[in-house]
Amino acid sequence: MEQIQGKTIFNKIAIGKVLLYQKNEATVKRRHIDDVGEELRRFDAARETALSQLDQIYEKALAEVGADNAAVFEVHKIMLEDDDYLDSVRNIIREQKLNAEYAVAATGGNFSRMFEQMDDSYMQARAADVKDISERLITVLCGGSTAIRRIGEPHCTDSVLSACPEDGQPAEPVILMADDLAPSETVQMDKSKILAFVTRHGSSNSHTAILARTMNIPAVIGIDIQNDWAGKTAIVDGYTGTVTIDPDPATLEEMTAKMQEDERKLRLLKELRGKETITGSGKKIHLYANIGSVSDIALVLQNDGEGIGLFRSEFLYLESKDYPTEEEQFRAYKMAAETMAGKKVIIRTLDIGADKQADYFHLAKEDNPAMGYRAIRICLDRPEIFRTQLRALLRASAYGNISILFPMIISVQEVQESKRILESVKAELRESRIPFKDVEIGVMIETPAAVWISEALAKEVDFFSIGTNDLTQYTLAIDRQNPKLDAIYDPHHPAVLKAIQTTIENGHRGGAWVGICGELAADTTLTQTFLDMGIDELSVSPSFILPVRKAVRALS
Ligand code: PEP
Ligand code: MG
Repeated sequence: MEQIQGKTIFNKIAIGKVLLYQKNEATVKRRHIDDVGEELRRFDAARETALSQLDQIYEKALAEVGADNAAVFEVHKIMLEDDDYLDSVRNIIREQKLNAEYAVAATGGNFSRMFEQMDDSYMQARAADVKDISERLITVLCGGSTAIRRIGEPHCTDSVLSACPEDGQPAEPVILMADDLAPSETVQMDKSKILAFVTRHGSSNSHTAILARTMNIPAVIGIDIQNDWAGKTAIVDGYTGTVTIDPDPATLEEMTAKMQEDERKLRLLKELRGKETITGSGKKIHLYANIGSVSDIALVLQNDGEGIGLFRSEFLYLESKDYPTEEEQFRAYKMAAETMAGKKVIIRTLDIGADKQADYFHLAKEDNPAMGYRAIRICLDRPEIFRTQLRALLRASAYGNISILFPMIISVQEVQESKRILESVKAELRESRIPFKDVEIGVMIETPAAVWISEALAKEVDFFSIGTNDLTQYTLAIDRQNPKLDAIYDPHHPAVLKAIQTTIENGHRGGAWVGICGELAADTTLTQTFLDMGIDELSVSPSFILPVRKAVRALS
């Protein structure tokens, strides 16, 4: 038995088998080979396997998401037949006498960089496809030694073979361990197959951590993961931040009992379902939920969320290989509106950039991405992307109670420009006789600038949603992504609390209602403070709804 101490992200316990998730780039080693012919045959065999995998994936995608979305896998097949690509790989093997994995990685890197630099946006978008097929080939070539498949893809390796059936999906849910996870990777995983996340890197305030909390999955970071843990039984204790490998029977028994105790407490909390979020003296607040995708709505309903306070729409973009179409977005927003059956659904417009990257946006590397080209700045700079989303949102508004929230606002002009574009999209819909409803408009208050001009902003909008995650980052000048600074990233800092108070006062003075949707909204040690400040709404990860309701009801 081995016990390692890390840092907790979400208080929950999981027991299960370990699946190591490594990014392919990290596993490719440059190796000299003696038998060129054998290495070329190995590469050709891997290519055949990759092609037949793509056939299967194409068929599955065709059935599940339709021809348009499945077409990308046909493009991948064409790339695997491309002479320039194949010649480059074979040349490196033949001339430099290097291993096939390295030859594919080098070729993939060169070709994707070449595509990225092209002027034509269609060709630029192909960079992601080259990376994808190269990863696929490398994975097939490495197959058998290390667990490097992405969860959800049809293949698996020896180290997890015992947990995987023929199609490569783990037969039972696993504890996923990785060096680091990007939000785009986390969001693409089949959540029903994940018991817990354990990573070596990452910070408590990153979007991956937020996703783990939203998905109700225990998570621990800062663990020095070892390769020989693959396939072993582990316990992830999200309360203490401890990970136990190969637990002895006594520990297993103790932790199973702790898990059962958790479930018992959860059952007690469930008794608060259907009850009002109201203090003893009758002060009521709205208690909404934060979600990253439509599939999280099940958790909102299970936990009796009174609405959705923050739908992070950018995760729709992160799940896609290309810009989601108006139709795809419309379907997602409509489903959210319909499922919530008239309850409020606040959808935040695209907040991409910084740690939330999608290749097809081709965002240049920046020295300071958190303060860079992101969120509303991208939307106002590339209005065609913004208009597509606004059309989808407005069309979906006809099916429920949708509100629109603009992120990363720093000026009244940005809000006015966003509203101007929204009005022109409305005019377009009216002209085409496409129905939509009047929607409430809100802005995220997550920059000190927005706090200082909140009285003016309130006159422009119906509501504010305070994003304490970024507000803390920008107020304290502490990078929320940097694990070294976790200890001093303090959302309880008086400057942050003062900013919240100022925002609430100014919002009310200007006629806007005010909520909090950052992680701090779930901090029950501050519930009283927020109510005293006059907060109207709190929006939290689904699993925090009932604990926060309990805290509000306990207040006098
Ligand atoms: C925030 O900044 O508090 C927020 C809710 O937005 P995100 O965490 O997605 O940046
Ligand atoms: Mg934010």
